[in-house]
Amino acid sequence: MRKIEHRALFCRLILLAFIFGIVLFLVRYVRDSEKWYEQSYNKHLYSDNGELKTGTVTDRNGVILSSVKDGVRVYSPNFDIRVATLHTVGDSAGKIRTGALSNLREYLVAYKRSSGANAINDEGNKVSLTIDAEACSAAYKAMNGLFGCACVYNYKTGEILCLVSSPSYDPNNIPEDIEWSDSYTGAYINRFFSSTFTPGSVFKTLTLQAALSELPDASARLYECTGSVKIGDNYVSCPKAHGTQTLQEAYANSCNCTFAALAAEIGGDKMASYVDKAGLSSSRRIFTFANAKGSFELAAATKYQLGWAGVGLHHDLVNPCSLLMYIGAVANGGKSAVPTFLKNVTASNGTNLKTPETEYTGTLVDAGTAAIMRGYMEYNVSHVYGTDRFPNVRMGAKSGTVEQKTGKSNGWFAGYLNSEEHPYAFVVFLEHGGAGSGAPADVAAAALQALISVP
Ligand SMILES: [Zn+2]
Repeated sequence: MRKIEHRALFCRLILLAFIFGIVLFLVRYVRDSEKWYEQSYNKHLYSDNGELKTGTVTDRNGVILSSVKDGVRVYSPNFDIRVATLHTVGDSAGKIRTGALSNLREYLVAYKRSSGANAINDEGNKVSLTIDAEACSAAYKAMNGLFGCACVYNYKTGEILCLVSSPSYDPNNIPEDIEWSDSYTGAYINRFFSSTFTPGSVFKTLTLQAALSELPDASARLYECTGSVKIGDNYVSCPKAHGTQTLQEAYANSCNCTFAALAAEIGGDKMASYVDKAGLSSSRRIFTFANAKGSFELAAATKYQLGWAGVGLHHDLVNPCSLLMYIGAVANGGKSAVPTFLKNVTASNGTNLKTPETEYTGTLVDAGTAAIMRGYMEYNVSHVYGTDRFPNVRMGAKSGTVEQKTGKSNGWFAGYLNSEEHPYAFVVFLEHGGAGSGAPADVAAAALQALISVP
C-alpha cells in the first residue's frame, strides 16, 4: 500500500509541475510574444542577412520610401529620394541605427497573437514618417556632395519635415568601397543626431542670451571693435575692425571682440549654467537611441579661453539636434517640441494603430529674453543675410563659419520662421561649405522653399 501511495504522490507532483509549466508559458506568451516576434532568428520575418521582410515606410504625403516585394525589401524607385531619405528610413542591414527600420520595427510587423506567423505578409503595417521626401531631395541636392546635415522641423509639434545627412549612398546599389573609401566616411551615421561639431558663431546666440540675462545694461551699451581685444593674457581677434556698434549690430556683424569680452565678463560658471539650461550639454532619448551630447570647457577655462569659448571656439562642441531644439525654443517663447520622425502607424485595412504624442523640452530660454533674441535674429536676416532667398516669410537666423587648417571653412546656418502657418526651425551644417551665410543658407532655402511652396 505504501508503495502505491508514494507513486500517487509522485504522479500528483509531476501533474502540478506540468500545470505550472503550462501557466508560465501562457503568461510569458501573452506578455512577451510580441518581443519574441521581433527577434532576427524568426526567419519568416527576417532574411538571412537580418533584413526585415514585412512593413511599408512612407513619407508624410504617402510617398512610399521602403516596402517589401516578394519577400525582398526595396526602396523608393526615385534615386534622389532614396539617397536623401536613407538616414531617416534606415538600411536593411540595420547599420544606420537611428533610422526607422531599426527604431520602428515593432510597428512595421503586423502581428496578431491569435494567428501568429500566418498574419505576416509583405505589406505589414504602414509606418508614415513626418518627413517630406521632396524637401529632403531638394536639401540633399543643394548640399552638392559636401558632408554635413540639414534638418527642418516644426517647433510646436516636433515633426521633422526635412532631414538629410551626407555622405549617403544608394541602398539599392550599395557601393563596393563603402567601408574604406574617403567618399563614404561616416556614411552609416546620421550626423544630425549622432555627431558633434565646433559651433563657431552660431554659439554667439547663447552668449547673447547670457548677456541679456546677466548684464542689465548689455543692450544699452556701445561696443568698440578695433579688430582685436586683450582678454586675460592674450588677444582675441575679428577678421576686421567693426568700429562702434550696438549689441544688435555686434551680433549681426558677428563681432568676436564683443562676444569674447561679454563671455569673459559673465564668467565660466554662469556661461556653463546657460549652456546646461539650453540643453546643449545633454542628450535626449529619441525612440531607441539618444542624440549626441555637446561638450564645453567653460567653468575650468582661463579668461582668454573663455573668450574664445564665448564665440563658439576653444573646446565647444555642439550636436545639431540639440541646437535645433534650442533655436526652436527661442522661436517658441522658451520651450520647444522634441524632434520626432514618426507621424503614425496604420494597419493594411487603414485602422490607425498609433499616433505619437508631442513631447516638449523644459524651459530652455526665459520667455522675455527669447522675445528680445528673436528681434536680433530677425535683424540679421533683414540687414545681413538678405531676404531674397527667403521670400514671403519672416525669418530669424544666425550663421557660423569655422576656419579649417585645410580647405574651406565649415559653415552653419540656424534659424526659424516667425510664422503661425509654418512654425519651423532649421539647422544646416556643411563641412568645407565656406561661410555659413553662403552654401549652408542656400541649403536651408532649398528645403524651406520645397516645404512652404507646396500648394
Ligand atoms: Zn569685431
